[in-house]
Amino acid sequence: MKFYNINERNEQVTFSQAITKGMGINQGLYFPKDLLKLSSFEINDLLSMNFIERSVYILSAYIGDEMSKDSILSCVNNAFNFSVPLVFIHENIAILELFHGPTLAFKDFGSRLMAQFLCKIRKNYNKPMVILTATSGDTGAAVAHAFYRLPNIYVIILYPKGKISVLQEKLFCTLGNNVFTVSVEGDFDICQNLVKQAFLDHELQNILDLNSANSINISRVLGQICYYFEAVSQLPLDIQKRKLVISVPSGNFGNLTAGLFAQSLGLPVKKFIVATNLNNTVPRFLQYGDWNPLPTVATFSNAMDVSCPNNWPRIEELFRRENKSFTELGYGFVNDICTKETIQTLVMNLGYVVDPHTSVAYRLLYDQLCDDEFGICLGTAHPAKFKELIEFFLEGNMQIILPRVLKDRMELPILSYKTSKCFSELRSLILKLIF
Ligand SMILES: *Cc1c(COP(=O)(O)O)cnc(C)c1O
Repeated sequence: MKFYNINERNEQVTFSQAITKGMGINQGLYFPKDLLKLSSFEINDLLSMNFIERSVYILSAYIGDEMSKDSILSCVNNAFNFSVPLVFIHENIAILELFHGPTLAFKDFGSRLMAQFLCKIRKNYNKPMVILTATSGDTGAAVAHAFYRLPNIYVIILYPKGKISVLQEKLFCTLGNNVFTVSVEGDFDICQNLVKQAFLDHELQNILDLNSANSINISRVLGQICYYFEAVSQLPLDIQKRKLVISVPSGNFGNLTAGLFAQSLGLPVKKFIVATNLNNTVPRFLQYGDWNPLPTVATFSNAMDVSCPNNWPRIEELFRRENKSFTELGYGFVNDICTKETIQTLVMNLGYVVDPHTSVAYRLLYDQLCDDEFGICLGTAHPAKFKELIEFFLEGNMQIILPRVLKDRMELPILSYKTSKCFSELRSLILKLIF
């Protein structure tokens, strides 16, 4: 299938081009040309398959003309090699735990699949492929682990020195091998600026095959469609027949975009709830109809501190093409006090610990769910990633145990390089690391 640029509709590219370019001219996002629909027979068939088999089927529907089933299967097998349990915590609510991958957050799905695809479709072996990306903490970890030990690909991740937590730093700066991490004298914007300068450097472009692997890449969205089907497949048949509401903790809206694609394919979901923190551009837009981003504010659910969500144009495009109205979306936002209280209440009443992002989505789902509906809340991060904060909320009544992967990493030394905010210094470092 071809993919077109939302901002320049005449620009149409193959999947291989879309995944390597990331974005089209005029900063446009790529969008699938055909709106695929599966019959209810096919959907039932899909729901009886296992996660891997079903994911290959779904992805083949989009990219099967460019990649063989066997190639897609090998990518899916390597990328989705961890469990996705649906945990029933309440008579009418379950949490889809998307945080059992190597960096304990749902971004592992999209990043790992993208890494596998890039490795497979890569044609240019004359230049070393370098994934260059800036992170404020979590996305860098997902990218580093996704590309870790993949042959002939180097990863360079910039992060602001002293501005990420020890846990975050240990998670991706201890890998070594083909993953190079660089702590930058400056904040996240400076890191992003350095990456931008590298992409504008023609000489670098001539000798390196640079890719940013960032979150607007269409391959990530396609990968995330798969776990929505997995959620429904794990529901007992009597519950599958009930009206299903899915609440999505949202920041850049890649996760919700994937859910809406799943629904558009034919997955029986009655309603999605757009759940944000105080960075509530979209809930305010859905309520009042004006798009009015305010300055970003810091919250407990910091991966959702986004006021201009970069995947939103894809959602508008999907609704336009489907002739659907935004009135079918549920929405809401939750402040920090309420995020904290929800974590406390869930532990007290149900003995289940959620991280602050999942807490936001759970709260809105709980408040808005009707009697005849069944609710699924996406669990986007493992609570252990927020160990100190959550233990503080729980006033010493509970200790969060670090999963093995994290505990082992905590023992390892940080391998990061250092650089100032000066681009020429970073440039020499990159050349030294790769050649
Ligand atoms: C990135 C992230 C989100 C937001 O996801 P989007 O796809 O950007 O909307 C939510 N929760 C966690 C833990 C995240 O890391």
